[in-house]
Amino acid sequence: MAKILCVLYDDPAGGYPTSYPRDDLPQVERYPDGQTLPTPSAIDFTPGALLGSVSGELGLRKFLEDAGHEFIVTSDKDGPDSVFERELVDADVVISQPFWPAYMTTERFAKARNIKLVVTAGIGSDHTDLQSASERGVTVAEVTYCNSISVSEHVVMMILALVRNYLPSWDVVRTGGWNIADCAARSYDVEGMHIGTVAAGRIGSAVLRRLKPFDVHLHYYDPHRLPPEVEQELGVTFHERVEDMLPLCDVVTINAPLHPKTENLFDERMIGRMKRGAYLVNTARGKIVNRDAVAAALRSGQLAGYAGDVWFPQPAPQDHPWRTMPHHGMTPHISGTSLSAQARYAAGVREILECFFEGRPIRDEYLIVQGGHLAGAGAHSYSEGDTTDGSEEAAEFRAEQKLPPIPAQ
Ligand code: NDP
Repeated sequence: MAKILCVLYDDPAGGYPTSYPRDDLPQVERYPDGQTLPTPSAIDFTPGALLGSVSGELGLRKFLEDAGHEFIVTSDKDGPDSVFERELVDADVVISQPFWPAYMTTERFAKARNIKLVVTAGIGSDHTDLQSASERGVTVAEVTYCNSISVSEHVVMMILALVRNYLPSWDVVRTGGWNIADCAARSYDVEGMHIGTVAAGRIGSAVLRRLKPFDVHLHYYDPHRLPPEVEQELGVTFHERVEDMLPLCDVVTINAPLHPKTENLFDERMIGRMKRGAYLVNTARGKIVNRDAVAAALRSGQLAGYAGDVWFPQPAPQDHPWRTMPHHGMTPHISGTSLSAQARYAAGVREILECFFEGRPIRDEYLIVQGGHLAGAGAHSYSEGDTTDGSEEAAEFRAEQKLPPIPAQ
């Protein structure tokens, strides 16, 4: 019998949904590269239901309790008095989503004396100290590809929203106005623009593919170059260094994982290499950009707009400068947690747990750390080290909201 500790975001403010806007989800047979969707032996949820919040429980309770395991679900994840930190001491498995990450720092690994497996219900395991996981022989796995297409759709939406000045124009209507000049004075066409992606992995290449019909000029940087036939099909130009690509681009989108080599990549100097008035869209991770440099660049006009859904830490405190900086299109971390994506990553987490409990190998493409090293997808895309430094600040949000800790279920 194992203890599984699962951190999920809070239920909707009005309570767990009893109905949804749509009655079904489209059937996706395979991911674009042919990888199969998750293959658990069964699922105990209805695809399209809210699974990522506390009452949704990733649809795992029946499966785990029928097998005799203890299953704790909480949203109270930050600070030494949190339910998460109390329950962690004897947990065998920790599960959390990047949207509401249970930061697994060195200190927390030291407290978690039984921990064997840390699962990211989603993609991006930077909230786990991968160095500590390696040193302690803990396996780290995520559900590769589960929400890559979801995010690529979001990136395209955010590029269009920024360039065309959608959100301020929507706000004019919402507040009873009709001043067209206010809307038009910052509105452009995407057609003909140069758009570059930092990383052309699953999300980055899906963004390129989706942008191609807009008649734009496409660019990318990635440590591994795409096959020539893919470059040709997309009509995309490769650059040896991010620095070389930036001065050419009207729009830059960041689609790389956060690891020591990408942390703070977009600092003041790097943003200074961008064209004046460029747009930056970051749905990868907040820490890849320098938060104060982004806010300053929007104020000076070096950036015409910044959008994304990723912050550091998460949740972001009230005084996070991105809440109030000009010309931004930020949302909470939502692009990879559409109801469509949730059905895939809930099934993927179940597949990983079934493998773990039955002693079967976890798919190589789901592995980030195993056997004391970066492994599988982790060995391909991450570098050794830890990016959780500073995550304690996330505790401020709950304190500011003056919410009592939410009890474990
Ligand atoms: P992939 O692993 O398919 O792609 C990641 C790409 O990043 C790879 O091509 C990799 O290169 C590249 N890369 C690694 N290091 C660098 C670097 N130093 N500079 C530039 N590129 C680099 O993952 P996905 O595309 O599916 O996801 C990418 C990231 O997006 C995730 O790690 C996560 O942080 C974020 N994400 C955000 C979500 C959200 O809800 N906002 C949801 C899902 C993901 P190579 O492997 O060729 O070496």
